[in-house]
Amino acid sequence: MTVLDVQNLEAVYGPIKALRGVSLQVAQGQIVTVLGPNGAGKTTLLKTLSGLLDPRRGTVLLEGQAIGGQDPVDIVRRGLVQVPEGREVFPLLTVRQNLLMGAYTRRDRDAVARDLEQAHAYFPILKERADQPAGLLSGGQQQMLAIARALMAAPRMLMLDEPSLGLSPKLTQEIFAIIRRINQERGTPILLVEQNAHLALHLADQAYILENGRVVLEGPCESLRQRPDIQEFYLGVH
Ligand code: ATP
Repeated sequence: MTVLDVQNLEAVYGPIKALRGVSLQVAQGQIVTVLGPNGAGKTTLLKTLSGLLDPRRGTVLLEGQAIGGQDPVDIVRRGLVQVPEGREVFPLLTVRQNLLMGAYTRRDRDAVARDLEQAHAYFPILKERADQPAGLLSGGQQQMLAIARALMAAPRMLMLDEPSLGLSPKLTQEIFAIIRRINQERGTPILLVEQNAHLALHLADQAYILENGRVVLEGPCESLRQRPDIQEFYLGVH
C-alpha cells in the first residue's frame, strides 16, 4: 500500500524554481531515500511535504488524503512528522520537556506516557539526561532527541533531513541502526534525505536522485548501487 504519493510537485522561492515537478512514492513499511547534490531541492521537498512551504503545483496524498498546502500542525496531526535538519531542539527546555513538546497535538495521555517509555527504550541516554537542558547534550544526543521527539507525535510516517550531518562515523552508524529499528519494529515508513549516499543506499529500499529540482533517477537501492554512474558520483568508487 502507498502511504505517501507525491505527483508533479512544484515549489518556488520567488523567482527560484526549487522543485520542478517531483513525483515520488513511499509504500507501507519502506525506507525511501532522496539523494542529490547541494541545492538539488531535497530540503525544499521535505519542507513542502511538511506544509512549511506551499506547493505551487502538484498533489500530495497521505494514506489517500490530500495534504498538499495544509497547515503544518494539521499535517503532523495526520501523522506525517519531520525531523528537521540541524535538529532544532529547544536548548533551554529539559530533555523531557523537549520530548513532551513532540506530543503537543495529542490528548491521549496514557498513550503519550507509553510512548515516552518507548522513546527512552530506544535512547536510554535521554532518560539519564531527562532533567538536563537539551542545549547541554552533544550533537549526536541532540539528533537522538530530535528523532525521539518526532516519535512522541505518534507518526504514521517519518521524514528525516540529513540525520548524519556533523556526526562522527560511529555516531552516524548508531543513528542509522536506530532508524532501521524504528522502521522494523514500528513498521513506520521513512523518507530519508541524506548526504551520506553510501549509508543511505544500504539502509533504504528505494532511492530517488534529485538534481536541479527534478528526479533524474529512481529505483531499488540494490540496483542503483551497481550502477557505474552512481558509484562514481555518489559512492566515490573509481
Ligand atoms: P543542501 O544539501 O545544500 O541542503 P538541498 O538539496 O536541500 O541542498 P534546497 O535547500 O532544497 O536544496 O535548495 C533548493 C534550491 O532552492 C537551491 O537553489 C537553493 O539555493 C534555493 N533555496 C533554498 N532555500 C531558499 C530560500 N529560503 N530562499 C531562496 N532560495 C532558497
